[in-house]
Amino acid sequence: MIVVLKQNAKKEQVNSIKQWLEKMGVSVHQIEGLHTTVLGLIGDTSVVDMDQISSNPAVESVKRIQEPYKNANRKFHPNDTVVDVCGHKIGGGHFQVIAGPCSVECEEQITEVAQKVKASGATLLRGGAFKPRTSPYAFQGLRAEGIELLLKAKAQTGMPIVTEIMSTDHLPLFKDVDVIQVGARNMQNFELLKELGKIDKPILLKRGLANTIEEFLMSAEYIMAGGNQNVILCERGIRTFETATRNTLDISAVPILKKLSHLPVVVDPSHASGLTWLVEPLSKAAIAAGADGLIIEVHNNPKMALSDGAQSLTPEMFDDVMQPIKRMVEFEGKILG
Ligand code: PEP
Ligand code: MN
Repeated sequence: MIVVLKQNAKKEQVNSIKQWLEKMGVSVHQIEGLHTTVLGLIGDTSVVDMDQISSNPAVESVKRIQEPYKNANRKFHPNDTVVDVCGHKIGGGHFQVIAGPCSVECEEQITEVAQKVKASGATLLRGGAFKPRTSPYAFQGLRAEGIELLLKAKAQTGMPIVTEIMSTDHLPLFKDVDVIQVGARNMQNFELLKELGKIDKPILLKRGLANTIEEFLMSAEYIMAGGNQNVILCERGIRTFETATRNTLDISAVPILKKLSHLPVVVDPSHASGLTWLVEPLSKAAIAAGADGLIIEVHNNPKMALSDGAQSLTPEMFDDVMQPIKRMVEFEGKILG
């Protein structure tokens, strides 16, 4: 971090800023220019508050050189993180396909979808029990019962389950869930992220609708700073001016996240597009861009789905989409499943 001091900064002011910065655990290198004094901060600057430094009357400007996240940063952890979900690895050359309905609706629905997506090559089962809906009048999910039904489908198929949490109050209900999803709308629910940092279950963290890549990685940092390193990032499309799709899949986020961070990255082509016919091309784009997995919505009867029917594939459509996915993952030299 570089701190540029005002031209009229007094010697005492400079010394007191230096001492104050050193108390934060960084060493300070002072550079005297002809007219300006510059302080170079060396060490772990992720704990240094830029705004606080800027508010000092002797400071002209502050510039960050190092990213503000440490645990999620590839610079401090060059090797890919591999998250292991009941023996299914994600990252470091391992690719998984997570599939299932948007919402768990009843036992027949979730078990039928689970069996079919498994037969097509999906390894993890998704299904929402607690649903973040825009309208309070829309189906809110089966809640605790939804998790029970997912566990039944897991017992029948052996597929680990992925489901979304919306409140720290519900955490005890998630004790047998294999991957806890943090949805786009909760990406910056910092109290929730802090609680998830205290457990060691894998967390599928979705990018917020209107969040930058840096904000996304800072949310991962919240979980990791608490001790939980099992974070899977999920690019699910962001809100733009475009209306042809539900969201805009930020495909460049995939290689950027992989460059900046060692965490595995999965892509959700269903929420990114909102349209079934776009799931295949976006899945292919995700694999080509270096993704470590996909999360795809599949429903046994999309027309009657209680949420996200328009973007849900039938099991037959999913089976078709899995064929090029398998070929492309193999072509990329990754291990599927
Ligand atoms: C979901 O996975 O069904 C969901 C609500 O996703 P997102 O948080 O990405 O909108
Ligand atoms: Mn959905």
